Amino acid sequence: MQVAVYVRVSTQRQAQAQTIEQQLERLCAHIQAQGWQIADDNIFRDDGYSGAGLNRPGLDRLRDRAAQAEFQRVLITAPDRLARKYVHQVLLIEELERYGCQVEFLDRPMSQDPHDQLLLQIRGAVSEYERSLIAERMRRGRQAKYRAGILLPWTRAPYGLQMNPDHPRDPKGVRLEATEAATVGEMFVYYLEEGHSLFGLAKHLIANQIPSPRGQKRWNQATLRGILTNPVYTGKVYAARTRPRPARVRRSALKPLGRPTTSRVVTDSNEWILVAPIPAIVSQEQFAWVQAKLAQNQQFAKRHSKSHEYLLRALVSCGVCQCSCMARTNSPGYAYYVCRGKLHAVQSCHDEKCPARFIPAPQLDALVWQDLCDVLTHPESIRQARRENLRKARVSLDHQLERLTEAYLSSVLLLAEYQRRRQDLEQKQHGLDTQVQQLETSANRHTEVRAPIAQLLG
Ligand SMILES: [Zn+2]
Repeated sequence: MQVAVYVRVSTQRQAQAQTIEQQLERLCAHIQAQGWQIADDNIFRDDGYSGAGLNRPGLDRLRDRAAQAEFQRVLITAPDRLARKYVHQVLLIEELERYGCQVEFLDRPMSQDPHDQLLLQIRGAVSEYERSLIAERMRRGRQAKYRAGILLPWTRAPYGLQMNPDHPRDPKGVRLEATEAATVGEMFVYYLEEGHSLFGLAKHLIANQIPSPRGQKRWNQATLRGILTNPVYTGKVYAARTRPRPARVRRSALKPLGRPTTSRVVTDSNEWILVAPIPAIVSQEQFAWVQAKLAQNQQFAKRHSKSHEYLLRALVSCGVCQCSCMARTNSPGYAYYVCRGKLHAVQSCHDEKCPARFIPAPQLDALVWQDLCDVLTHPESIRQARRENLRKARVSLDHQLERLTEAYLSSVLLLAEYQRRRQDLEQKQHGLDTQVQQLETSANRHTEVRAPIAQLLG
């Protein structure tokens, strides 16, 4: 490891105890004790310089050499040798560490000391501030480039387009990918035809063996919606059209939420930045019609799904494949929760159909409702009564055990018989203990869910 040392005395202080030579002596002794080596030109000294400012030749050389990554560690006797002001200490330590150089103080190794903790926190704040400053500068720089039309907002071309491989971020390099562009044109036409839906479009593409943008043989409706709503196909590249949104909806109660960045939401169109014109695949009118039809179908789907009341809508998951279940009424009076894994591959995104059976909604609803009602209506007094019963049973068992032991001691019972009966009783005792435990656990659980449920039922 390459080590450096920094020593400093100010003129007034020189007369005092700690001369620069004393500092050097201590630092070199420490270096030797660690088994490290130090080159002469790695010793940086500021003899007769105040620690109040940063304008010190020795310190300047140290910083320059650290910037060249010439050493991994700087040893200093105490923080006030590095700088008198706290802010300067923080700045210097931060800077040196950025160059991969640890700062170590002999007198004050970093500890739980409040001084060090404060130092740590300030350093954290400084670097966070710096990071956000840089990020903000970069963001504004990118925006300026978007407005100037010299930077593409994507690194992967949308389906149907390709970028110039030599200048991948140059909007002027965007070309149509002939085959895919033809497919996109076909999608807009097909979807607008009477009676055609996204689902139908996906099946149509699969039937024609057209690979998806990611090279899969299956298309799903989300991908298609993404394409049909992307204004890039009208020949306009927009930046800032979407922004990340934390995932809010679980795919299934049995699966964790997606990563926050995976979900993006389209921003208001007046926030979009028009970057550059590119070759168009569909006309502005055609695009507008498709948007209207998509909006209308979505409206219809929403209204449609409200025609039946399901207690557990969006709360049921499949026990076989863990997919979420949908509520569905096949014919009047027959309501079910149906695993999404049973849907057409286009909708389920699974190659194989889930073998789970339909779950009759009224039965499941009733079961869950009963459980909820129990939680709400079974007052503490009922549990109290059960507790009392269990306690009495326990006392009676204890008596039986006592009497059994007496019988054995007065030689009424043989040892083998005594042991057999005793084992019986002990098993019963164990059973009782388990019941008591279950009762308490469920009592806790009930207290936990009671408030939210009461709120729900309002
Ligand atoms: Zn399933």
